[in-house]
Amino acid sequence: MKFKDQVVLITGGGRGIGAATASRFASEGARVVVSDLDLSPAEEVAKPLQGLAIACDVTDRVSVEAMVGRVVGELGRLDALICCAGIIRDNLLFKMTDEDWDSVIDTHLKGTFLCARAAQKPMVGRKSGKMVFLSSTSALGNRGQTNYSTAKAGLQGMARTLAIELGPFNINVNTVAPGFIETRMTRATAERMGVDFEAFKVGAASQIPLGRIGQPEDVAAVIAFLCSEDASFISGQTIYVRGGP
Ligand code: NDP
Repeated sequence: MKFKDQVVLITGGGRGIGAATASRFASEGARVVVSDLDLSPAEEVAKPLQGLAIACDVTDRVSVEAMVGRVVGELGRLDALICCAGIIRDNLLFKMTDEDWDSVIDTHLKGTFLCARAAQKPMVGRKSGKMVFLSSTSALGNRGQTNYSTAKAGLQGMARTLAIELGPFNINVNTVAPGFIETRMTRATAERMGVDFEAFKVGAASQIPLGRIGQPEDVAAVIAFLCSEDASFISGQTIYVRGGP
């Protein structure tokens, strides 16, 4: 029960990696706040965990500030912020629209910025906090993802900068960078490419040294580690969770 009585807020918590992260924290005693664009997936995840569900669009400042205000108002504190909200709008550069660019940059970069800025306030006040942002192996470059890889690389810079600014307030800020994880996002990629998802997974696994694709729980475990006391001297780092170097 490493996180007993701690309050953990997870954006994009209604599905995939965010949902697995909510379960992981709840299983270790945390009170979880599951936030997502729509209330119903957030409620589906939060209910069995006896957590709080909140609808929040992370690209909207008013929505984000209201969410953090509600968490602190109803649960009294905020110990950890996990930013999982994300979208993809893949296309080769010459076909990528302004909308493809803006929506991905806004969701990942502006969304994480708004959440971090709102969350630091109660954390600085208590001189304690953890933040984990979701980067990706795409930060290293990935064909068809100019928008997404830019955002995911940017999040690593954001975490390093916030680790410097917030370290004096005993706040650790890190990113995890997953490779291929089996979620709706990777299923959507297979669909867009016109590839059967099962065949897509087999193909991906054959490129991974550990010989398998990742599951949301693989990422949730690393996020939980980064928020634990065991990781209290780790900040501004990126941990790749990809089954290989
Ligand atoms: P999912 O699509 O399964 O979950 C993402 C969640 O974020 C969805 O519930 C989605 O809602 C929500 N969301 C989208 N936009 C917003 C918004 N503006 N405000 C609030 N919530 C929003 O994705 P994954 O679990 O796969 O991904 C989680 C994170 O991990 C993402 O940041 C992703 O980029 C990253 N990642 C994933 C990898 C993978 O292989 N799956 C690899 C590397 C990184 P809705 O369903 O309504 O759109």
